[in-house]
Amino acid sequence: MRKAIVIGAGIGGMTAANALQRTGWQVKVYEQAPEIGPVGAGVGIAPNAVKALDRLGLGEGLREHGRRQDALEIRTRSGRRLTRLPGTDIEDRYDAPFYALHRAELHHVLARRLNPDTLHTGHRATTITTDADTATVTFQTTAGTVSETADLVVAADGVNSHLRATLFPDYPGPTYAGYTVWRGLVPNSRSVPAILTETWGKGARFGIATLGGGQTYWFACENMTEHAKPEHGLDMLAQRFQHWHEPIPELIAATPEDTLLRHDVYYLHARLPSFVRGRVALLGDAAHAVTPDIGQGACLAIEDAVVLASAVDDSGVDEGLRVYDAARRPRTERMARFSGRLANLLQTSNRATIAIRDTISLAVPASLLTRAAGAAFAWTPRDHVGASQQT
Ligand SMILES: Cc1cc2nc3c(=O)[nH]c(=O)nc-3n(C[C@H](O)[C@H](O)[C@H](O)COP(=O)(O)OP(=O)(O)OC[C@H]3O[C@@H](n4cnc5c(N)ncnc54)[C@H](O)[C@@H]3O)c2cc1C
Repeated sequence: MRKAIVIGAGIGGMTAANALQRTGWQVKVYEQAPEIGPVGAGVGIAPNAVKALDRLGLGEGLREHGRRQDALEIRTRSGRRLTRLPGTDIEDRYDAPFYALHRAELHHVLARRLNPDTLHTGHRATTITTDADTATVTFQTTAGTVSETADLVVAADGVNSHLRATLFPDYPGPTYAGYTVWRGLVPNSRSVPAILTETWGKGARFGIATLGGGQTYWFACENMTEHAKPEHGLDMLAQRFQHWHEPIPELIAATPEDTLLRHDVYYLHARLPSFVRGRVALLGDAAHAVTPDIGQGACLAIEDAVVLASAVDDSGVDEGLRVYDAARRPRTERMARFSGRLANLLQTSNRATIAIRDTISLAVPASLLTRAAGAAFAWTPRDHVGASQQT
């Protein structure tokens, strides 16, 4: 039986493990964290990733735990609506809805379908070597150093990927995006409508999504130098967003301080020459971390997993890896360009640019915005999945 090792139990690694097991691989996932806890906040799963999860038979779990979004909206800080994409339009056009759910729930959906004894925590990958037919990874564990060899290694170890740095030593690594993001969760009544809203202000943004399980997820972005003002928490946010439309001040006030998450945002600015080295495939943020502006990082990682498993199943490992690289680099580079442009526009502090931005957005009918989002949402596994997996 062909053997694969996946490094990293994030959304990308866990989806890859599911996809490979489905096509008959013996898979082990190695994660550096000592255990998988209920980390993170919310995550938006756009139609492209919904279709990919459906292809892997994981859509049912998404529907069970996620909340289908009734609409996506952009607003000004006063609450004026700039654009609206109704959920029914999204579904009609892209053959799948837009969901939001807690990351831990998504992780649970991905973990529960894996074969027993697939996931191994407390294993930090420290070295990797690859030849024509295999790759070998060495891990640091509490019991000491262990090594494992496989026909295929999937490096899904995130934006700061150690394996990417080892395999591509000349690659410059992640770049700071110029802003920091806070995330919070607030309980809600289940009758709250699910309208994923992003509100644009001067050098700052606020997003709100209703998740499955009776929670509202919010995020706030603010331009800041790297590592600046670590003491900034809910008090600062309450002040910063006090004049923004409801429920923004209300949500900040209702958030327990100890649940607040804060991260500086990083992405991969430079292009990698390949997503493949020998028998190792880079996947997810390790290969193409994009800024979260188009909410597609996890969605693209899910797409990667479907394409990788399908390609090696259809064409064998070596040709399959070539097919994977050829399919995924152009797609993810396009999304990265789009996300970068959006970041510049959305995080601007320039009053003139804000005025132009908001005026243009007002003039853009929802159907046009639907077409722009289409670059991401329209992707379908059909074009990439070979005959063996077609239903
Ligand atoms: C604020 C914010 C909001 C976002 N919102 C969305 C959204 O709504 N929708 C969306 O699609 N995307 C979103 N994203 C992007 C998304 O979170 C990421 O793209 C996605 O989580 C990447 O998944 P991954 O599996 O590639 O990497 P990660 O989630 O980073 O997982 C990597 C895993 O590898 C492990 N690891 C690292 N090094 C090693 C090692 N040496 N050995 C073993 N294990 C290791 C880590 O512990 C981790 O568990 C958002 C990002 C941010 C910052």
